[in-house]
Amino acid sequence: MLFDTHCHVNDEAYEKDREAMLARAFSEGVQYMMCPGTDIKTSAEAVAMSHQYKQIYAAVGIHPEDAASATSEGFEQIRKWIQTESKVVAIGEVGLDYHWPEPSHEIQQQVFIEQVKMAVELDVPIDIHDREAHGDTVDILRQYGKGIRGVFHCYSGSLEMTEELLDMGFYFGFTGTTVFPNSKKLKKIAAALPMERILIETDCPYLTPPPYRGKRNEPAYVQYVAAEIAKLRQMDVAEVQRITVENGKRIFGIPEDV
Ligand SMILES: [Zn+2]
Repeated sequence: MLFDTHCHVNDEAYEKDREAMLARAFSEGVQYMMCPGTDIKTSAEAVAMSHQYKQIYAAVGIHPEDAASATSEGFEQIRKWIQTESKVVAIGEVGLDYHWPEPSHEIQQQVFIEQVKMAVELDVPIDIHDREAHGDTVDILRQYGKGIRGVFHCYSGSLEMTEELLDMGFYFGFTGTTVFPNSKKLKKIAAALPMERILIETDCPYLTPPPYRGKRNEPAYVQYVAAEIAKLRQMDVAEVQRITVENGKRIFGIPEDV
């Protein structure tokens, strides 16, 4: 059994074959998926898919790349989904992305802070996107995220940052990038972390692991991330699958009988 804890199965990349893509995931043993939103529209799509498929759970939020689209009505909608939708299990994906010049760091920070505060207030986990913004991301969590819990998805931090996030109680999501032969630092972290803090994800349609690298990604391929973690930690792959499912259910508060 597998839990893909971060997959954009609502993406337009699956417009023509969404059913078939999901059927492949189910037949490869993916029993749980967490589909995050990146703005109000894609959050609504994630919520709709959580109604349609028992295996799919949703997160709602404004991604840093979409920070300029954030409005107070949008934040109200996010709050309402969290309060009324039982399969909305997190605020996400939210955070900071300094890879591109726009939106400005200031706008990204405002939108992230708003959602960090909401996660604390509503006592819901947060699914964090942090790209080339480690220092500011951790600063904001320290300042506004007292008692917050959640996941650093597609983790890319340093060993030092990892120590701090472990102390704060965070979980770490590993994607297909962990499988790439040149991801030496990432492999080291994935091998060293406490097993109970590790999640596996595809971030599909992006970050496709070998042997499908270069093609569109999909949840059926999360098994290759599990296999890599098993190899790095010299564990049985079935054990990695079992533990990462338990971890995902624990952090997102998913009940046993679904
Ligand atoms: Zn994502």
